[in-house]
Amino acid sequence: MVEDLRDFEISKERRIHSPAISFKEHVKYLRNISLVYVNIPFCKSKCHFCCFSMPFGSDLLLIKKLKNSYIKALKKELAIKSLYFTTKHTVALKAINFGGGTPTLLTVEELHEILSLILKFFNQKIGKIKDISIEATPDSLSPAKLKGLMSIGFNRISIGAQTFNQQILARLNRRHSVKQFYTSYDWIRSAGFKNVNIDLLYGIPFQSFIDFKKDLETAVSLNPEHISPSPLLPPKRFLFSIERENMEKNIERNIRWARFSHKFIEENGYNNYFHKYFSKKGKESVTELIYFFNIPYIGVGAGAASWVGVNPSNIKSYIADSYSDTLFDKDTFDNPLIGIRRLILFPEGICIPYFNKRYNCNIEKLLKTPRLALDFCKNLEGIRKKEQVKETEEQNIKILEEWKKKGIIEKRANYIRIAPKKRFSKEAWELYTYSI
Ligand code: SF4
Repeated sequence: MVEDLRDFEISKERRIHSPAISFKEHVKYLRNISLVYVNIPFCKSKCHFCCFSMPFGSDLLLIKKLKNSYIKALKKELAIKSLYFTTKHTVALKAINFGGGTPTLLTVEELHEILSLILKFFNQKIGKIKDISIEATPDSLSPAKLKGLMSIGFNRISIGAQTFNQQILARLNRRHSVKQFYTSYDWIRSAGFKNVNIDLLYGIPFQSFIDFKKDLETAVSLNPEHISPSPLLPPKRFLFSIERENMEKNIERNIRWARFSHKFIEENGYNNYFHKYFSKKGKESVTELIYFFNIPYIGVGAGAASWVGVNPSNIKSYIADSYSDTLFDKDTFDNPLIGIRRLILFPEGICIPYFNKRYNCNIEKLLKTPRLALDFCKNLEGIRKKEQVKETEEQNIKILEEWKKKGIIEKRANYIRIAPKKRFSKEAWELYTYSI
C-alpha cells in the first residue's frame, strides 16, 4: 500500500508539504522510525505560562540529586526500547531532538553520552540525520557549552526568547533578561550553529500590539532560520490564573495578532510551512514534520510521548521504572480522524489521493458523513481501551461536523484545506492554539 503512494504524479500546482521531508521521502519513510525524542524535565524555575508539570524539576538542589539517577533511567529505557523496536521495525532516523524542560542544564559530557547511546543502540550514522536539535533557555548557555554541543553533533538549537520586552519577560517569571538573550544568540552564531529557532509568545497580559510588533521586528532582524510564535494558551489549560477572564475576552485580539504575525513574518522572507511554524527554505523543523505527518517516533524520558504511548510524567516514578510496556498503537497511526486533524494544519491542506491510500479510506465520504469514521476506526487495535477510543472519536467527529456546518474546510483541486477566508476565524482558532 505504502509503495503505491510513490506513483502519484505531483504537479507543480499541488505543492507537497515541505522540502525538509519531501513527499517522496515521507512516503518512503512512512513506516520507519524516524525520530528519537529525549525529554529532560528539569528547569531552574517555573515560568508562569508553562503547561508542563515538573513538580520536582524546579528545585535546583533536587535537580542535582535526581540528575544522575534520571540519566541512568534514560539509558535503561533507551537500551530496552531500541532492542524492542529494532527487531520489529526499520529505524532510519531523520531527527534526534532533546527537549524539556531545559536539556541544556545537562553538561556537554552527559548529553554526549546519551546522544552516542542513541546512535549506537539504533545503529545510526550521525551524518545521515538531518536535524540533531536541542531546546535551550538563554541563561543555560555559555560559549564553551555551545562549542561543545556543536562538537558532539548538535546542528540545530531552539531558543526561547518569548518576548524582547524586559518588563513582560519578568511578568512571565523567565529567568533570563533581554540582554542575556542577545548575548546567548551571539554565542550561538559564533559557535557555528546555522539552524536556529526562536520561540515567541503573544497575547501576554499587559502586552500591547506595539510590544508584539516590536518583538516580531526584533526576531526577524536577528535573522534566525526558524520562528515559532505561539499564543499564550487559553484559560482552561492555563496555570497562571490572574488574567483568566481577560484572556477569554482576548481571543479575538489574539486572532488579529496571529493574522498580522503570519503576514509580517512571511513578508520578511519566511515560509509558513505548517501550523504556527515559519522557516527559511529547507530549514523546516524535521521533528515537527515527523510528529504531524504521524511518522513513527520514539520518546524517552519522563512524560515523553512516542507514537506507541506515553511514559509516566512523574520523575520519581519514571526513575523507579523507566520502561512502560507499550504496544504498537495502531489506533493513532492508522486513525484517519487523527490524520485529518494533523494534516489539515498544512497551509495547502490534505492531498486527497495520498490520504486515501495512507488511511485506506475515502476522505471526501468521511467528511460528508463523519460518523462513518467509527467504521474505519473500529478495527484499530490500539493500546487504549475501546471506551476511550470511542470517546476520542466522538470528540473528533463533533469537530468535523462543526467544521462542515461552518464551512471551515473546502476542496480545492486534489486538496482538502481550511478555507483561506476562515483561516483566522474564531471557529478555526482552536486548531492553531492547541497542539494535536
Ligand atoms: S523553561 Fe520552558 S519548560 Fe521550563 S518552566 Fe519555562 S516554559 Fe516550562
